[in-house]
Amino acid sequence: MIIAVASGKGGTGKTTVAVNIALSLDNVQFLDCDVEEPNAHIFLKPRIEKTILSSIPVPEIDTKKCVYCGKCAEVCVYNAIAIVPPTNNNAGVALTLTNLCHGCQACSFFCPKGAIRERKKEIGVVEFGSKKDIEFIHGRLNIGEAMAPPVIRQVKGHINPRKTVIIDAPPGVSCPVIAAVKDSDFCLLVTEPTPFGLSDLSLAVELLHKLRVPFGVIINRADLGDKETERYCEKEKIEILMKIPFNKEIALAYSRGEAVVNVLPEYKTKFKDLFQKIAHR
Ligand code: SF4
Ligand code: SF4
Repeated sequence: MIIAVASGKGGTGKTTVAVNIALSLDNVQFLDCDVEEPNAHIFLKPRIEKTILSSIPVPEIDTKKCVYCGKCAEVCVYNAIAIVPPTNNNAGVALTLTNLCHGCQACSFFCPKGAIRERKKEIGVVEFGSKKDIEFIHGRLNIGEAMAPPVIRQVKGHINPRKTVIIDAPPGVSCPVIAAVKDSDFCLLVTEPTPFGLSDLSLAVELLHKLRVPFGVIINRADLGDKETERYCEKEKIEILMKIPFNKEIALAYSRGEAVVNVLPEYKTKFKDLFQKIAHR
């Protein structure tokens, strides 16, 4: 079973929940797909055993073969190619904007003259490790690089179907979240009971409806803030699967980079029960 843990906004406790579920179950594979800011390793402390480079194929136009037909720019939905045909006075321009390129290879496929070569552009790394019986994989996007989804897809390419897979998704509702959450069996949306939390939760709910991924909500620091999140979930018929009250020991454990289940072992049972609820839906 693949369970993604996501949140409409950062700082809700998403990684804390993901890590502690992983530590509460047996036979787990943990994928940190928050590749712009991977930090689950701080709590899990895995031993990294292997690192591979993550790259995408980006186009290089051979101007000797190019006839400036513009087909490549036409098929590139990311506007990563600009073609200006030559005039009597000016030479043509064939420009590739590799920072916008998603490496989909459509341009080279459709070029009628075979004028596009591809070169590998390194955008990050994927690291493999383990912590006791937890298999751990995370991606790291290079600083200044915009293309998180290819790194996320590379991490997810190593999903082990024989394990319970916990995916720590990036926060927000943009392309990286879609890449991380897509094809999961269930998504846990972690939120906090504040107007900001609710606003971003409603966006995340919309996204999950579009992706057709079943989901439920965890309210973190549930005794702080207001009751609007609970009212919203009731109105939208969204199941609140767990409420985690504010707890000084949890906050202190977080500040030390320590897992909740290590300081409050009763949470192991709570996360196990949560998993059972999801698995038997
Ligand atoms: S499709 Fe090929 S020939 Fe046409 S502009 Fe692009 S690179 Fe040049
Ligand atoms: S590989 Fe895809 S995204 Fe990149 S320039 Fe070509 S068509 Fe555009």
